Amino acid sequence: MPHPDLIAHAEQTRRDVIELAPGIWTAVGFAASNVHLIEGRRSVTIIDTSESTAAARDIRAEFAKLTDKPVGRIVYTHGHRDHVSGASEFSDGSVPILASHAFDSDLVDVGSAVGEPAILPRKALGRRTLAQFGFGLDPRERVSLGCGPGERPLDGLGAGFLPPSERVTGERDVDLDGVAARLLFAPGETADHMVVWLPDTRVLFSGDNWYHAFPNLYAIRGTPYRDFAAWAASLGKLAALDAEVLAPGHTRPVVGAAGVREVLETTRGAILHVMRSTAGGMDAGLSLDDIAASAGLPAELADKPWLKSLYGRPDWSARAFATGTLGWYDGNPTHLGTLTSLARARHVAELAGGVTALVERARTTDDLQWRLELCDHLIALGEPAEALKADAMERLADGEINATARNTYLWEAKRLRGTLDG
Ligand SMILES: [Zn+2]
Repeated sequence: MPHPDLIAHAEQTRRDVIELAPGIWTAVGFAASNVHLIEGRRSVTIIDTSESTAAARDIRAEFAKLTDKPVGRIVYTHGHRDHVSGASEFSDGSVPILASHAFDSDLVDVGSAVGEPAILPRKALGRRTLAQFGFGLDPRERVSLGCGPGERPLDGLGAGFLPPSERVTGERDVDLDGVAARLLFAPGETADHMVVWLPDTRVLFSGDNWYHAFPNLYAIRGTPYRDFAAWAASLGKLAALDAEVLAPGHTRPVVGAAGVREVLETTRGAILHVMRSTAGGMDAGLSLDDIAASAGLPAELADKPWLKSLYGRPDWSARAFATGTLGWYDGNPTHLGTLTSLARARHVAELAGGVTALVERARTTDDLQWRLELCDHLIALGEPAEALKADAMERLADGEINATARNTYLWEAKRLRGTLDG
């Protein structure tokens, strides 16, 4: 059975079209991410467009029940593909598309500085993305994405992107066909974030700088360092707006000024706590393993339902902050040299009293993390430990509150068993 908190979190991504204020709606649960609608005098504004043309079509059909006014403009909060890939369902490309000056999308091949395609481990990123989001898992296994529903239409995934036609630097007041709005540059989950603030109705569209889960300061699919300090600063800036309604890029809106302020300020506090405790551990000369193993939140933050590790995790964040600030070297000269996986596995097998004894220990230990590590040594030695490792990962998945870890355990277990579709 999946973790009960993960099952309960599905309420946050239940399909719903919610009115945030007169003429302002958000569509939650139709896709991994939310799409917002602001009705103007003769046209509407769409904020973000979802991950696929199929989901965007569903949302467009829902919005058509609310208004028949045409789309006058689109705003992207950031360039992640789950927010920009349904644009072609809302526009034929003729309306303005606004994004921040820093807008960056992995759907745009920007090439490298030397004028060739960027040199990146694209296959690794692709494989890990499939694992994190559980593509190819049984729908009953993939209960959640951590920030969105496990089940949603996937036709046209990544297919409907339209590039921004206008880049906004800093802050800009704009007229959304009769609705006053302020676009604010607010780097956070990504460096290109731009939020939308409606001062008259006090509705704030935060993009992914807030959602109902511990912030994904590090995505296990693989991501460059996300600037923790910038994200915390942006959350402070958003809290100071004193919004009445917070409409995030994922999960349901938060209504009421006190509640909005609380979720933004405590999330900011959680990021600052991870930064302080990690820096403190590094200053004290602790190993990265020990820093990560003891990472967590103080009781007053750990209690908050929106700070549970459903999407991001404090231990992964601690590793990301440590490597993002001082790089891979942890200060322990042991790590200046390298043993190959095979050399280490041979040493461990020798210590255990031989390969047979190592197999026995991997089978009998109650510590599932230790079992995974022993299985890795056995696999390095060419021993058939794949099924044993898969079994340990499936058991870990059952107790795992984090959706991306759960999906990855289950996906990798299937891969090891050779039962992954496609
Ligand atoms: Zn997102």
